[in-house]
Amino acid sequence: MPVSQTAWEPHRHEVIIIGAGVSGIYQIKRLTDLGIDAVVLEGDDDLGGTWYRNRYPGARFDSESYTYGYSWSREVLDEWSWKERFSGQPENLRYLNFVADKFDLRRHMRFDARVSSMDWDNDAREWTIKLDSGAVYISRFVIPSLGPLSMPTLPSYPGMGDFTGPSFHTYHWPEEPVSLEGKRVGVIGTGATGIQVIGELADKVGELKVFQRRPNWSSPLNNSEISGEEMVEIRNRYDEIFASCAESPGGFEHVPDWRGFSSLTEQERHAHYDFLYTQPGFAILVANFAEIFFDQAANDEISAYIANRIRDRVDDPVLAEKLIPKDHGFGMQRLPLETNYFEAYNRENVHLVDLSEAPIERITMSGIQTTAEHHDLDVIVYATGFDAITGGYDRINIRGIDGLLLGDVWADSPRTFVGVLAHGFPNMFMVAGPQSVSGSTNFPRAIETGVDWVTNLLIHARSGGCTRIEATAEAEQDWVDEVVRAHERMMFRHSKGWFTGYNSNVAGHHEGKIRYQAYFGGAPRYAAKVAELAAAGYPGVTLT
Ligand code: NAP
Repeated sequence: MPVSQTAWEPHRHEVIIIGAGVSGIYQIKRLTDLGIDAVVLEGDDDLGGTWYRNRYPGARFDSESYTYGYSWSREVLDEWSWKERFSGQPENLRYLNFVADKFDLRRHMRFDARVSSMDWDNDAREWTIKLDSGAVYISRFVIPSLGPLSMPTLPSYPGMGDFTGPSFHTYHWPEEPVSLEGKRVGVIGTGATGIQVIGELADKVGELKVFQRRPNWSSPLNNSEISGEEMVEIRNRYDEIFASCAESPGGFEHVPDWRGFSSLTEQERHAHYDFLYTQPGFAILVANFAEIFFDQAANDEISAYIANRIRDRVDDPVLAEKLIPKDHGFGMQRLPLETNYFEAYNRENVHLVDLSEAPIERITMSGIQTTAEHHDLDVIVYATGFDAITGGYDRINIRGIDGLLLGDVWADSPRTFVGVLAHGFPNMFMVAGPQSVSGSTNFPRAIETGVDWVTNLLIHARSGGCTRIEATAEAEQDWVDEVVRAHERMMFRHSKGWFTGYNSNVAGHHEGKIRYQAYFGGAPRYAAKVAELAAAGYPGVTLT
């Protein structure tokens, strides 16, 4: 049973971890193994983070399950069997519970413990952490493990409260089964989430209306079951699998094709695309020619190839054109992977509502009014994305030295030292924070790097009797410059999308301003950089 946080007296621990998702679970394991007094504060009533929340139909990994699972426990690797190459949300949540229960981690977690503020006391060298409930925690160190996609964003259409049927953001899909059979369902948003939910619901609802503002590129997930024998073979290859993930820029088993785009004929390249299109997961993107990210001609060619695949799969040619992005190339925003998404539009009960032609005016009691017509609906699903990467931090009032508000410092763009430390906010270590590599790679691979680095920094500081750890302003600026340089090298810097610097889901985040939210230098370069810092005794970090 989850433990609920009800006590009101201040609680003292050496380390507070915020968030019991994929990162928080591993972080508490590392700290308690070291005998460090630490607890996890989790806002929800149970653990799992992303996989606890996103219960919408069709929610599943798009990284291969066996590359997404933790690599740090041989026992877990030996005991857990993935059933599908891209495992679904219920199984993923079971997995995280299995890990937490196996190591008895739940007893270090406090649920229904949503943090509302964190204040740094520069004299006492402590953080005071307040919860929505009024409970107070005091700790020397705090490790926000908030996840990059934990702040869902709803649009602000007039009348949203007037709709009389069920309506919810996909992140808040109800725990109780929602009956959609025979219902008229509207889905707003065609990102990775919308594309999963639309593919899954198309043949299960009465009528499905997809409200699309901008189309997204998407390619097949190519999911399959993992047999018992295949799982044995995967288990035997785990060391090799994780080693190859560590060498790939995206933290995947797929590695870029370095043969050189121009060294092959167009026919040879097309044969390669044909092969990749049938391969599982992100192969079409990350096992493709690396030039597709840097060279316009290479990107134009793969974009034209994928556009033709969409034309082949959608019966109505006019509709097919509406589903093909014209404002960005393939892979220039975070690529959604799909199952039967394009075929869904060949069904009589599925209709695309193109908001670029007729925007939404308001939500009414009975549906959605666009500038062209009224759409009668029984259920509205908002698949409208997240205030990604920094949203979780903005939700907490984080005040550092002299009451400096982190949200103010990051108003235009976050500033960090290797995505972990922020100058002016001592003793706060972000796992998978802004400007780390985690936002741009197979998430757990990168968070393991982050958790291990934070843990080693703590061990180093404690062994030297240090009670205050802060990045210097110079080191932080150097890292921000490196993040900007890596971003500037990528062609996607011109496209919109949370992943690539403009977040069109958040008012004000996309008005010509780039937010440098993630480091795009690749996981191997990032891992090498932070390992180098640790080996050199953490230059750029003041330990007192
Ligand atoms: P997203 O990719 O940011 O997509 C949000 C969608 O909502 C976009 O189509 C956007 O349109 C639309 N939208 C936002 N505000 C709107 C408004 N006011 N009116 C109409 N449309 C609006 O968000 P997401 O689909 O939730 O995906 C976010 C990330 O979560 C993914 O990129 C991925 O990293 C992660 N994810 C992972 C998995 C997985 O691993 N399997 C699955 C799902 C999601 P515009 O494009 O015009 O802004």
